[in-house]
Amino acid sequence: MTFESLGLAPALLRALSEQGYATPTPIQAAAIPLVLTGHDLLAGAQTGTGKTAAFALPLLQKLGVDQVLHNSKQPRKPRALILTPTRELAAQVHDNLRAYGKHLRVYTAAVFGGVGMGGQIQTLRRSLDIIVATPGRLIDHMDRRNVDLSCIDTLVLDEADRMLDMGFAPALKKIMSALPKQQRQTLLFSATFVPEVKALAAQFMHDPREVQMAQPNAVAVGVHHRVHPVDADKKRDLLLHVLAADSRRQTLVFARTKHGSDKLCKYLDQHGFRVAAIHGNKSQGQRTRALADFKNGKTTVLVATDIAARGLDIAQLPAVVNYDLPMVAQDYVHRIGRTGRAGAEGLALSLVSREEEGLLRDIRRLLKQDLAIEPIAGFEPAWTLRMDGPAQTVRKHDRNNGNAPRNNAKPGKPSHARRPHAPRGKGGEHAAAKKQRRSWRDKVNSRKA
Ligand code: AMP
Repeated sequence: MTFESLGLAPALLRALSEQGYATPTPIQAAAIPLVLTGHDLLAGAQTGTGKTAAFALPLLQKLGVDQVLHNSKQPRKPRALILTPTRELAAQVHDNLRAYGKHLRVYTAAVFGGVGMGGQIQTLRRSLDIIVATPGRLIDHMDRRNVDLSCIDTLVLDEADRMLDMGFAPALKKIMSALPKQQRQTLLFSATFVPEVKALAAQFMHDPREVQMAQPNAVAVGVHHRVHPVDADKKRDLLLHVLAADSRRQTLVFARTKHGSDKLCKYLDQHGFRVAAIHGNKSQGQRTRALADFKNGKTTVLVATDIAARGLDIAQLPAVVNYDLPMVAQDYVHRIGRTGRAGAEGLALSLVSREEEGLLRDIRRLLKQDLAIEPIAGFEPAWTLRMDGPAQTVRKHDRNNGNAPRNNAKPGKPSHARRPHAPRGKGGEHAAAKKQRRSWRDKVNSRKA
């Protein structure tokens, strides 16, 4: 299978060859022909599968060819809208669009929270073909009438499950209701097809074709999972030990809370590591810099919360460390999805305290595989990690996600962890998401009372 055989225009083929893409990935081979023929598409694919190009290439083809045909001097109104859960993903998708579309006259804009409105308003006033946006900021622009969506005929929902998880359902519905309904093509990409995603698809899509690339809970085969049991108060030093084993290795470290990430980052910095943290309280500029520094090797350790790391395009990451286990087993799969890509070997290390035993059992159950338990000399705990006890199962919305630092959100105490994934604060996402978060907080309070 080649990109030529998928019927892509020469301008795209040239850009792809400049990107060094030789052959389409499976999701690209399956999705591109369907999108080019105008079908709605439900695609089950995770980050790392090449899903961005799977929707970006046919979209650029459609718009780019139209521009050549019509070549009008009239200002152009946006025809495609791509919604993503996070700012980082919006920026990445936008970068990819620019790279793939560099030989076409297609105008694109990225619109997300955490940066000023002014520049975005200016951009939205110009000729535009494609807008990439996070739902909250787009609604801010819609409410202020900064954006004209009257000609949108293609909608892409990227990482739809995550957007719903983050409380964006009302925002998505509002946006979708504001788009023209006639002959709209809708493409929905999601790692999982939980009932909420299916309901969204049923409501807003027309006779979609389905492609499913990976099992929802699959992790790359080349990943070695290792569990290091440790007392909670020795975790930081064990992390130093683990990182020091190969200090040049690019390692993504997951912490549960924003505060925890900052503390860990400081600690590692004090111990000589080139490290940065990325989480929801960082400004867009800080996040972009942290990611760029990590990608170009200026830093070797990136400490992240789940939400900040979601969708980050970091190619061939050799190691991921779970400093804290995720509250929800599915997030382990998302975290580990960043290592062992494209056939490369990857290391997934989990530092597990006694309080996290139940969470580990959830993960093992989800992965349906045993995880190697390897105590490290000098850090062996007095207790033995038991994999035969009860699981920790936390209901979907009972997770603490790293964006919600709560003093009482201790591992193994899920009843205190009560907020859905959601950006907040300066990032300024949509009021509906904030309202939903308030309702979770109220629930916590009423349960505590
Ligand atoms: P994505 O799943 O869209 O985040 O893509 C994951 C990574 O794969 C990105 O770094 C892309 O640039 C890269 N990629 C996408 N498609 C191809 C391809 N056909 N050949 C090689 N690399 C690709």
